[in-house]
Amino acid sequence: MVKHLSKLSLLDPILVPMHNVFWMTTWTIKDVLEWAAADFKKRSYDHPRLEAEVLLAHVLSIPRINLYTEFDRPLIEEERTAYRNAILRRQTGEPAAYIVGHKEFWSLDFDVTSHVLVPRPETELLVATALKIAIPTGPFLDLCTGSGCVAIALASECRKAEIDAVDISPQACEVARRNALRHQVEARVTVFEGDLFAPLPMGRTYAAITANPPYVRNSDMAALAPEVLQEPDIALAGGTDGLDVTRRIVANAPSRLMPGGALIVEIDPRQATALLNEVGPNHFNAKGELLRDLAGQARAIIWQHRAL
Ligand code: GLN
Repeated sequence: MVKHLSKLSLLDPILVPMHNVFWMTTWTIKDVLEWAAADFKKRSYDHPRLEAEVLLAHVLSIPRINLYTEFDRPLIEEERTAYRNAILRRQTGEPAAYIVGHKEFWSLDFDVTSHVLVPRPETELLVATALKIAIPTGPFLDLCTGSGCVAIALASECRKAEIDAVDISPQACEVARRNALRHQVEARVTVFEGDLFAPLPMGRTYAAITANPPYVRNSDMAALAPEVLQEPDIALAGGTDGLDVTRRIVANAPSRLMPGGALIVEIDPRQATALLNEVGPNHFNAKGELLRDLAGQARAIIWQHRAL
């Protein structure tokens, strides 16, 4: 039966041939999920089933887990139309997170708009590392904060810490502030609009600075996956070798770190060697260390500014 259905289009009422008579039947949650996941798989999306579920849960306004408890529930026409529209948007390259308006990061749900980078699982490495090395009272600084996911994850883990978050995009700052409110950390997370360190209070230093700057090389921009191309250029494009913003962060971070504090920056794995080699003792008094994400990729570098 399922095999049969998967050949049919979600766009049409289902007609199932049976004894030469066509019976109109219905689409259940299970049916549409299988249909959408198979379609997304054919299109080589990274997480076809997950995206099919995220979109359907959004359309039905139910938590994703309920898709499983209501597996055999038939969809009414309006629900099917809404799901079809969401699928069409995804198929034209829009990230699922923009369609549904939120994305999970560090087990928290974040508001997301097309003005911010979609939080990615590999960026959780910044949070995990800051928690491991820095004193839990902070204060912390998160540059290029976007949705605010790193800053707010830190704030939710370190209940006493103050966190400053900076983004150059006013729309991103708005999203970050909304997320801070949503997670009830707005009293401890201050969002500054401006260029890297420029808007911060004079003389303020931090136990850890995190950043997921734009680091895609200009020449790689056009070849990004269609859903990445819909994310803001300002959150992605990092200049000729992708390191324009990263270099400015590295140059200015030491004067903003407390003794023993650390800078933790996300990178493209291909930038690791060049960056480790060019950042010398005139920046930090200890060598940078490579950090790997769950996929084993060199995903971030930490420079710890040792207390002398
Ligand atoms: N990891 C992103 C990508 O998909 C890049 C994010 C960034 O530039 N900070 O290429």
